[in-house]
Amino acid sequence: MKIFTTVKDMKNFSRECHCAGKIIGLVPTMGALHEGHLSLVKASKEKCDVTIVSVFVNPTQFAPNEDFDAYPRTFEKDVAKLKLLGVDAIFHPSPEEMYPAGFSTYVNVEGGLTKKLCGASRPTHFRGVATVVTKLMNITQADESFFGQKDAQQVAVVKRFVTDLNLSPKVNMLPIVREESGLALSSRNAYLTSEEKISALALSRGLKKAEATFFAGEKNSAALKKIVADELATEPSISADYIELLKYPSLEETEFVEGESLLAAAIFIGKTRLIDNIILTPNS
Ligand code: AMP
Repeated sequence: MKIFTTVKDMKNFSRECHCAGKIIGLVPTMGALHEGHLSLVKASKEKCDVTIVSVFVNPTQFAPNEDFDAYPRTFEKDVAKLKLLGVDAIFHPSPEEMYPAGFSTYVNVEGGLTKKLCGASRPTHFRGVATVVTKLMNITQADESFFGQKDAQQVAVVKRFVTDLNLSPKVNMLPIVREESGLALSSRNAYLTSEEKISALALSRGLKKAEATFFAGEKNSAALKKIVADELATEPSISADYIELLKYPSLEETEFVEGESLLAAAIFIGKTRLIDNIILTPNS
């Protein structure tokens, strides 16, 4: 397994792969890898000849008051996990390599896609995500890219700019990997105390209850959101950032679940912000 830290070396590797007629898969991550990330790697290994995993805690997607410095960095452990899965290359650049002096070009997806849900409380987040993912796609010359439904809004944003900017990679979305308890795996779960981890289960529990009620025939957005809100209210240590039900992937408002819809929530528990969602599909 190769580890590249410069754009030049990463590009050379990708060029050689393409010259040999190989299909390249890219899995963008910020490291602190868990089974959720590894499910994306496995999907890429299945679909592509060559899998590149980027491990880069991207400063431009964090606001100054957010957890960029505290974000878990476990590179040696990540390398061992990726080696076991037979990954071909890791791209692990420094912030200076990705954003050298003079850097001043950003990718900005306009409108509700980046302003709603996480975009409301993190107004510069998706500009950072869109910029770094565009750069990673260009550097690796990927044919396929792999993202988790855990960040369903991110996938909608990525699909939008890949289409708008005529980028090459196909965008694949993989299901959320959860602990047996229901808690969605997240690098930020490392911030939770054992009590907070138990309290946090109200989030997945609320979404699951709403999903069951939806399958039982409830299509009203307000009613489904209330089920999540009521479940979160059972845990005094949780404050909700948002609970939304929107059409997916357009993220347009909808009073009733008619087509594919995203029921998504973000919560604060202690200092930690967690997100989770389910996609509701009528007649599924
Ligand atoms: P991150 O390192 O948090 O930026 O995540 C990198 C990729 O892994 C993103 O596409 C995430 O959506 C995906 N991911 C994170 N957690 C999970 C999970 N529990 N299940 C599936 N994919 C995940």
